[in-house]
Amino acid sequence: MHWAASMKITIIYDNEIYLEGLRADWGFSCLVETDNVIILFDTGANGATLLYNMEKLNIDPSSIDEVFISHAHRDHAGGLADFLKVNKKATVYLPGSIAKTHGLDKVVSVEGPIQIHEGVFSTGELKGIEQSLVVNTEKGLAVIAGCSHPGVSAILTAASRWGRVYALIGGLHGFREFELLRDLGLVCACHCTQFMSAIEKFCNEKYNSGGAGRTLQL
Ligand SMILES: [Zn+2]
Ligand SMILES: [Zn+2]
Repeated sequence: MHWAASMKITIIYDNEIYLEGLRADWGFSCLVETDNVIILFDTGANGATLLYNMEKLNIDPSSIDEVFISHAHRDHAGGLADFLKVNKKATVYLPGSIAKTHGLDKVVSVEGPIQIHEGVFSTGELKGIEQSLVVNTEKGLAVIAGCSHPGVSAILTAASRWGRVYALIGGLHGFREFELLRDLGLVCACHCTQFMSAIEKFCNEKYNSGGAGRTLQL
């Protein structure tokens, strides 16, 4: 069994706001804080909006150790360059298909499934487009997805190599195989999720609405 972390997620950038005073924009970013590392998952489309929301949420960009980019689409990677202007130390985990073209210093190219830290993993780049972040918490695995382009089924299957999936958080795109969510304990659908209200209905009390400013403690 892998070491379990306590984890806090703060949604920084989303199509909707959860907290008054933040900016909504098409894209996704969240802060993942575990006992041993602080990771920025995706960066939204626009660096100014990313940094604005961070400031409103009292997140100091320089406190972030690493950036994990799920995939190359602009609404996830667009804020990266501006973020790296205010944080020059962060290591950036990029899907292998784009790592070589980026020209950044501290880049880890992610191809297959890997452990990034104790209890923190990448599914690896699935179907040549997207990686998801997996954190082992005491309740089970938390899976954080950008747009779920490889499909939720493929993502959950890839994550399952490290244990039982408890939580699914992020953009789920056109996902509608709701049965896959039955055994999960927490679902938070954000960003590009098309069938959000149907997912909320299916998940009932396990459902957490997303939006910039939303925090989840696991
Ligand atoms: Zn996308
Ligand atoms: Zn997206």
